[in-house]
Amino acid sequence: SVRGTSVVLDHAASPNKATVTRSIVFVTSEVAPWSKTGGLGDVCSSLPLALAARGHRVMVVSPRYKAYPEVIDTGVRKRVGTAEVGFFHQNIKGVDFVFVDHPSYIGRTGGPYADEYGPYQDNQFRFSLLAQAGLEAPLLVDCEGKGVYGQDIVFVANDWHTSLLPVYLAANFRPFGVYQKARSLLAIHNLCHQGVFPPSTFDELNLKGWWYGAVEFQYPPHQRKGSYAEEGRSVNFMKAGITTCDRVITVSPGYAEEIQTYLGGWGMEGMLTSRSPVLNGITNGIDTEVWDPQTDKNLPVNFGTEDFVEGKRACKMKLQEELGLPVNGDIPLLAFIGRLDPQKGADILLEAAPQLMQQHDVQLVCLGSGNKDLEDGMRWLESSFRSRSRAWVGFNEPFSHKLTAAADILIMPSRFEPCGLNQLYAMRYGTVPVAHKTGGLKDTVIDFDPWVKKGTGWTYTSCDAGGLLYALGHAITTYKHHRSDFVDLQKRGMSRDASWDSAAQQYEQLFEWALIDPP
Ligand code: ADP
Repeated sequence: SVRGTSVVLDHAASPNKATVTRSIVFVTSEVAPWSKTGGLGDVCSSLPLALAARGHRVMVVSPRYKAYPEVIDTGVRKRVGTAEVGFFHQNIKGVDFVFVDHPSYIGRTGGPYADEYGPYQDNQFRFSLLAQAGLEAPLLVDCEGKGVYGQDIVFVANDWHTSLLPVYLAANFRPFGVYQKARSLLAIHNLCHQGVFPPSTFDELNLKGWWYGAVEFQYPPHQRKGSYAEEGRSVNFMKAGITTCDRVITVSPGYAEEIQTYLGGWGMEGMLTSRSPVLNGITNGIDTEVWDPQTDKNLPVNFGTEDFVEGKRACKMKLQEELGLPVNGDIPLLAFIGRLDPQKGADILLEAAPQLMQQHDVQLVCLGSGNKDLEDGMRWLESSFRSRSRAWVGFNEPFSHKLTAAADILIMPSRFEPCGLNQLYAMRYGTVPVAHKTGGLKDTVIDFDPWVKKGTGWTYTSCDAGGLLYALGHAITTYKHHRSDFVDLQKRGMSRDASWDSAAQQYEQLFEWALIDPP
């Protein structure tokens, strides 16, 4: 039974263990802690761990970008198209993390996708290779003597990087009698990035010519950008996955609805609407061990739901000291953490900053990296309000934990947000989110209602500096003048269930539905 885009379980919930266990293989370009540029990396380790804890046999296949310590060469090698790949392995808490070895992954100077000169020119080859290697791994890699996974697999491809997986399954395996009962799901963590390449790159994909139609996409006129896309024709990885997979998942019900609309569909709204019978949204959980304020080793002081007022105050004062800000436990500390990309709305925060800093006695600390102009904007912010603001330009995981714990308010001015993890981490650390009412933010941040004293934060609908300032005004006033309301808000945020367990049950339900329907 499907209601809207959320998943309603067919059977009574089975809280800790799955009733039917399966072999599940995630194929992904990022997996934390080995590789991570954003939420994709977090989800592709925490969700598999949750599914393994429920009794499934779970593998995660990802590139070996570096010589990771403790990840062992299995000795298995396989020819894929014109390339040869190797497989490395490490089992952690029941999950088989398998790393694909190929010269195009290891030793690049930048991140997984790009360096300072822009995206790597061979990304279409690198990630089509990953999707194919992901299909080989369950057949070939004997995980610590427990035997190979075999052919009855539920594959989960993630975002454009691996969204050719369903195509390879249909083109290069099924016609040869392999994976007859396997299924493939495509999880969309962000539809904005689709993997768009010139049609001439089709030759590198190891697909027979008659599969060209499956990977070509013609954007509707309002979305055409870039030369080959403007001509109307391009190879589009995301399109190929959406049309070929058995089911499509997005990371929140709100986002599942938005991507079927003109405003949120990036030109794919029509195609996604046509797949709506098999399109669902499941809100991400978080890794409650990595993000636990009671045990987090990055924090100077740990705290829980009973002592967070003092604990957070101590974290705040320590951070102020470290950053050279005036040490003051009573001043509201506002934080922004995120990729510096137009999606995240850092420019909206920069636009609002002068008024914010003039009207309110607050401190503002930002952490982010990405777009060069926005990085400069961050530096401008710090130099303009030097006595009350700091901006850390870079990717710094320990600092993101410290800042989340120290802040009173987390600002998320995202223009769109498929799920968003920072607001979930924030709430668990007693930090109150102020967020644009969109996608997963709309689903997870419940507006504070002063009459019935419910809610976990503030959201606003007008996606601009005015909207943000309006909501921030409420949050700061509540902090300053209605502190007990604010503390209750913090407590409700800390107590909400952020674990993966209920989301993992919804994933199980989708696996069952995928298996019931004929491919
Ligand atoms: P997205 O996947 O769109 O980047 P999410 O909110 O889903 O957004 O996930 C972002 C993740 O990346 C969070 O774990 C966040 O803490 C982390 N992150 C983003 N930017 C930085 C940074 N500059 N330093 C450390 N962690 C960061």
